[in-house]
Amino acid sequence: MCRLRAAPGAEYALAFLDPSAVRSAETSLEESFPGYIVSLTVDSTPTDSAGPAGAARAARLPAQAPGDIVETVADDVVETTVGDDPLGSPKSRSRPWSLNERFEILDPYRGSFKSARVLRIYGGEFVVAWFEQGDSARLLTWLPRLDSAFAVVQEHAFPLLRSMFVNAAPRTSTGSGQYLILLRDSLPRDDLPGPVGVSYATTVGDTVFTWIHLKVDTAYTHTGLASLLTHEMVHSYQRMYMHANRAPGVESVTGAALWGVEGGANLISYETMRRYAGMPLDANLDWRVPQATAAAQFVARRAQPASGEFTAGYDNAMGFMRYLVLRLMRAGSTLDHAVREVSRGAIEGWYGYDGYTRRTGLVSRVRAVLGDRWDPEEALLDWTLSHAADDLTGNPDFQDRTSLRIWDIPSDRAGWRASADLTSAEGGSASVYRRYGSPFYVYLRDGGGGVTFRIAVSRVNPNEMPPAENIPMVVVPWKLVRIR
Ligand SMILES: [Zn+2]
Repeated sequence: MCRLRAAPGAEYALAFLDPSAVRSAETSLEESFPGYIVSLTVDSTPTDSAGPAGAARAARLPAQAPGDIVETVADDVVETTVGDDPLGSPKSRSRPWSLNERFEILDPYRGSFKSARVLRIYGGEFVVAWFEQGDSARLLTWLPRLDSAFAVVQEHAFPLLRSMFVNAAPRTSTGSGQYLILLRDSLPRDDLPGPVGVSYATTVGDTVFTWIHLKVDTAYTHTGLASLLTHEMVHSYQRMYMHANRAPGVESVTGAALWGVEGGANLISYETMRRYAGMPLDANLDWRVPQATAAAQFVARRAQPASGEFTAGYDNAMGFMRYLVLRLMRAGSTLDHAVREVSRGAIEGWYGYDGYTRRTGLVSRVRAVLGDRWDPEEALLDWTLSHAADDLTGNPDFQDRTSLRIWDIPSDRAGWRASADLTSAEGGSASVYRRYGSPFYVYLRDGGGGVTFRIAVSRVNPNEMPPAENIPMVVVPWKLVRIR
């Protein structure tokens, strides 16, 4: 229980976190708790109005139920092992592909061979082939967008990828010396809101073989496509980096946790598009104001942190990584050094365990710049408050430097809204729910008489209603900032 001295009209942002995922990473591969969400009850009943009149009333925001939390995480990384990788896999290609060539290739989703045709070879190395299926008229209108997108990737993503991960080109097979981008009408996960691209990798000895599948989706402009292509190619580079830096003789993976792999891929795709648009990282853009170019508009929109559900990865986690990059730069790192440390640390894991190899890890990389007292749980809370208090406080520690009033971006534009908004004079409590390991924030307002709040937390399984299992959690880190 925490009591705040009466200051009528005062407003606070309160952030809290389920720390179990971060803590589990300290001694072993980070645990995930899929299907579990953290439920938290905030009770802001004022101290001087206990009793029936002060009984809890609904918060101003609609009550959430565990069922509202939907798993929308669709992983787009596929790792095949040598034994599983059948004949007809692109990694078996024995010679370079040539333009307009038709070849037979195994469709991994159907287990049957299919005919494909080479439509483009960019720079002799990057082979674009079409799985011959469906509507080729649609494909022909879409291909010029891929040409423009690849030009963006070549100019802005490749230098980043080589400098952030490994200074090498990705290869699909030794015999081809090329990298395959396979175009499809559909991917098998079309029933999910997730991927329009999937990255594949397999290893033989010290060598990584990698390629991608892209869906021909005409909803994508060339900017969206450049971002998507970069995202998928980051996975190839993440895989190459992790394999090159593994302990001798052991296996490797693309990354220690989903948030690092998918958030890290989005950090590089965001950086690529930002550099293409020529915009600074700390522009504090007003997302309400249209930008002058399509690329700038794309980057302004990408400044949102999605739902802020950190462990879900993608833009949810990218916001935290971008925040870390800016923190490192404030402490003297160059932009490239900061992006490199965060990108590598993200896939290495908080403390560097990927289940096979111990590497430096994100915590050590950040501490090397910010000092040994830097704490990942507190950093997640500070990031949350830099979102909740953005442009509401003059405190430079709690600002989002990419977007103006970032807390105000509507959720239908992938904004991260407060889980509750409570005023003490009205009494009130709110139960809020969130994906495991992800920070929350609520606003508390002093309606007169001060604010008293209690945080009670349990972990529940949303698939069991009413929850059959409530696992109490012992310590919940929280942090509060006065914003008015
Ligand atoms: Zn991905």
